[in-house]
Amino acid sequence: MTDLVVCGLGPAGRGLAHRGVARGLTVAVVDPAPERRWTATYGAWADELPDWLGPEAIAATVPRPMAWGTRAHQVERRYVVLDTARLQTSLSLPGAQMIADRAVQVSPERVTLASGRSLAAARVVDARGLTRSPTRAEQTAYGVIVDAERCAGLDPLFMDWRADNGAAADETCSFLYAVPLDNERMLLEETCLAGRPALTGSRLRARLHHRLRSRGIRLTGAEPVEHVRFPMQGGRPGPHAFGAAGGFLHPATGYSVAAALAAADAVAAGQDVWPPAARVVHRLRGAGLRALLALPPADIPLFFDTFFELPSAAQRAYLSGRTDLAGTVSAMRTLFAALPWRLRRRVAAATLGIPVPSRDRRVQPWEE
Ligand SMILES: Cc1cc2nc3c(=O)[nH]c(=O)nc-3n(C[C@H](O)[C@H](O)[C@H](O)COP(=O)(O)OP(=O)(O)OC[C@H]3O[C@@H](n4cnc5c(N)ncnc54)[C@H](O)[C@@H]3O)c2cc1C
Repeated sequence: MTDLVVCGLGPAGRGLAHRGVARGLTVAVVDPAPERRWTATYGAWADELPDWLGPEAIAATVPRPMAWGTRAHQVERRYVVLDTARLQTSLSLPGAQMIADRAVQVSPERVTLASGRSLAAARVVDARGLTRSPTRAEQTAYGVIVDAERCAGLDPLFMDWRADNGAAADETCSFLYAVPLDNERMLLEETCLAGRPALTGSRLRARLHHRLRSRGIRLTGAEPVEHVRFPMQGGRPGPHAFGAAGGFLHPATGYSVAAALAAADAVAAGQDVWPPAARVVHRLRGAGLRALLALPPADIPLFFDTFFELPSAAQRAYLSGRTDLAGTVSAMRTLFAALPWRLRRRVAAATLGIPVPSRDRRVQPWEE
């Protein structure tokens, strides 16, 4: 019998299957298009990535990215942009059975495919990602890839919430993400961190163009474009799902790729990667998303000023400490205590699930 069947060959499923093969398991993978090449640009904090990931998977490193709320903050943490093609190739699957099909029914030891075929395995893991739904907050972004010399003087930006993108003060706000792809190119992306509904691509495009014009960066119109849209909610922690489907996506930041790669080895080994502390952290992160959705747009830059003034260890715990309950609680408490009173009331209410008038329909507990 096959040791492991992985349904879904995104970064999480492929990472898991790769580590399964590396451990000597018999592995089968199911995806409607198992050979599809990934095109998204993935970024991550360098310290989140597993040791087994080869350096070829890293395209560019930013030693200390900048973050702007209403003022500048230097983030004391190395950020990397992955080389998507090399990452995918490096997650090689020698000897794995590749099945081009759609999983329609997935249970812990059996999967039924759209073709009618059924596969049994010692373990079946659902890594089919998340489906879009109007009840789920999404992250959206519109980006252009620009010659680095045309953005000379623009520091790499983890997020820049300054108000030079032409958005009205009461509109859902968005930030500029700017990272090198290599020595010659930068990705400049206007991002709606979380919205329900999130900002549309055309709105973000107009804001990006406005912002870049304000900063003296001219576009020719021939730049390659990146469109981003993915759900931020809906994953279910547990032994039978992985990646975004399995609760690895941070609902308040949208990051998941590094966390899934970091856990792939343990999941392949059959270990429990959801100890009680991790499950509580997952819920706290969901509360973090509710707080973000409840804040008035004009207060978001101030919120991030406060966040990026936290000690680096607290920032790290909140952004990446998937199993670090003490660190997450401490970071959230310190952040809360440092916020202006006006914001505290809203954040407290949203965190506790108390309805507050906001630009967003409240997330119901069963929708988390
Ligand atoms: C342009 C872009 C940029 C992004 N940048 C970042 C970033 O910088 N950092 C970060 O962490 N995240 C980023 N994200 C989000 C990230 O891509 C997702 O969170 C991540 O891909 C989730 O990985 P996953 O493997 O769990 O699921 P997915 O990537 O969604 O993969 C799911 C896989 O399952 C397959 N599948 C679906 N249905 C079935 C089925 N019925 N049967 C079998 N297979 C099925 C799909 O074909 C797909 O291959 C970005 C997203 C986009 C679109």
